Amino acid sequence: MKLALFGGTFDPVHRCHLAVARAAAKKFGLRLVHFVPATLPPHKGNRVLTDFHHRFAMLALATAEDERFVPSLMEAGASEPNYSIQTVRRLKNSLKKSDKLYFLIGIDAFMEVSTWRQPVQLLGECDFIVVSRPGFSLADAGEALPEALRPSRDMLQELRKQTAGGTIALPSTTIRLLSGVNERISSTEVRAAAAKSLKQLRHYVTEGVARYIKKEHLYASTSGQQENRNAEGGKVLSFREAHQRSHKGRE
Ligand code: ATP
Ligand code: MG
Repeated sequence: MKLALFGGTFDPVHRCHLAVARAAAKKFGLRLVHFVPATLPPHKGNRVLTDFHHRFAMLALATAEDERFVPSLMEAGASEPNYSIQTVRRLKNSLKKSDKLYFLIGIDAFMEVSTWRQPVQLLGECDFIVVSRPGFSLADAGEALPEALRPSRDMLQELRKQTAGGTIALPSTTIRLLSGVNERISSTEVRAAAAKSLKQLRHYVTEGVARYIKKEHLYASTSGQQENRNAEGGKVLSFREAHQRSHKGRE
């Protein structure tokens, strides 16, 4: 069986995440796509993430209707940052020998792969499906590889000519570029749009997620502030709690 691990912060999961997973499943015959929300991703800078439980609840709602999509708790409950290498190895341990695991990732995230924990080993664990965006080619994916795996200048030159799709086959891993998912929604945009009407929000996220965002008052009054706030080492506050507190204050 072929399956993929799709990691991210999913704060919140939006229609492009689903489009990416559907396109990858179709092109590579994936039977399962594990959506793995990170508890404390090492690469998200200073922004305070929405409570894990909310992000997971939204993933469960968004993935409910596609039987291939699994909302995963693999990284739940971690008190330290999760590194992809650990998650991939844990998932592989639960698979059969005949299963084939892919790491599904957008090219924007893949551009930083060489800064991740043990990138050469990670790339050696499974093949990668890198979802392209307009303006990116296979050569960009090649250039992002850690130096030890990076193709030669001549090869990169050749890769630059392939704008749609293509494969970089290396001894330890294969990188497959998936193009054609040209939608541009980002979670950042959704957070900024959370105060809009339900109808407008549905443009970015599924009906269930839009309703959940409204019901739980997620991203409501703090969208601008929240993007820049420092982590301050404190517990991430549930936005529901924050909402109730601000209401109590007014009683
Ligand atoms: P943020 O705006 O907070 O960075 P995001 O929309 O990029 O959020 P993430 O949770 O960071 O969402 O991304 C999870 C994965 O989905 C990453 O591999 C990312 O590259 C990929 N991804 C997100 N949006 C798109 C998109 N529009 N097209 C292709 N890949 C995407
Ligand atoms: Mg992102």
